[in-house]
Amino acid sequence: MSKEEKALRQAIIDKCRWMNAAGLNQGTAGNISARYGDRMLITPSATPYDLCEPEMIASMPIDGDYGTWDGPLKPSTEWRFHLDIMKARPEVGAIVHTHSTFATILAIARKPIPSCHYMIAAFGGMDVRVADYATYGTAELSANALKALEGRTGCLLANHGMIATGASLDKAMWLAVELETIAKQYYHTLLIGGPVLLNEAEIEDTRKGFATYGHQEPKKKKLKTAG
Ligand code: 13P
Ligand code: ZN
Repeated sequence: MSKEEKALRQAIIDKCRWMNAAGLNQGTAGNISARYGDRMLITPSATPYDLCEPEMIASMPIDGDYGTWDGPLKPSTEWRFHLDIMKARPEVGAIVHTHSTFATILAIARKPIPSCHYMIAAFGGMDVRVADYATYGTAELSANALKALEGRTGCLLANHGMIATGASLDKAMWLAVELETIAKQYYHTLLIGGPVLLNEAEIEDTRKGFATYGHQEPKKKKLKTAG
């Protein structure tokens, strides 16, 4: 295994540990994947993240024999939606799936998140949809998730949790945090009479900005004008 691949495997594990420590996920729920060339690296199923080592991350071909994997442990039971998203969305480099509390509360109530905060624009449109319910790990759940993700970077999964995607692990986790935050804000707004929603022009303005907004890799260049 190359140094680069080992580092990416370790980064997946670090993100899993971080999301549990940050309260964004509980126990062995949730799973994370990252694209590595023509393969997908994904957390093993039901394995405590504190016990995870880079060698335990499963590796699956993205366009090869569907569902085959390399590694000592079975991949996450949700490998289907991770793989199907990677296949359908070449811009996606990493996927975070969690059972974070407020996103899951809304998913249980089957309430999509409307344009209640400008951050909804980070998800690609006017709302974050709820994918129809299907048993965890099934092809049906994957199909439902892909439908809810059309034109979007994240979605809720009915009576289950949420999915956030991104070009990199950092971006996907950034979006997962944003999704849990907006879910929490929307939930609480419902308790005081409901939100005042932003209109399409207001969200579109913000969406344009998000094309360049997000986690930054430090550049070794001279000073630039902020904009
Ligand atoms: P795995 O432990 O198999 O990844 O499953 C956790 C989960 O969240 C299922 O939806
Ligand atoms: Zn789950």
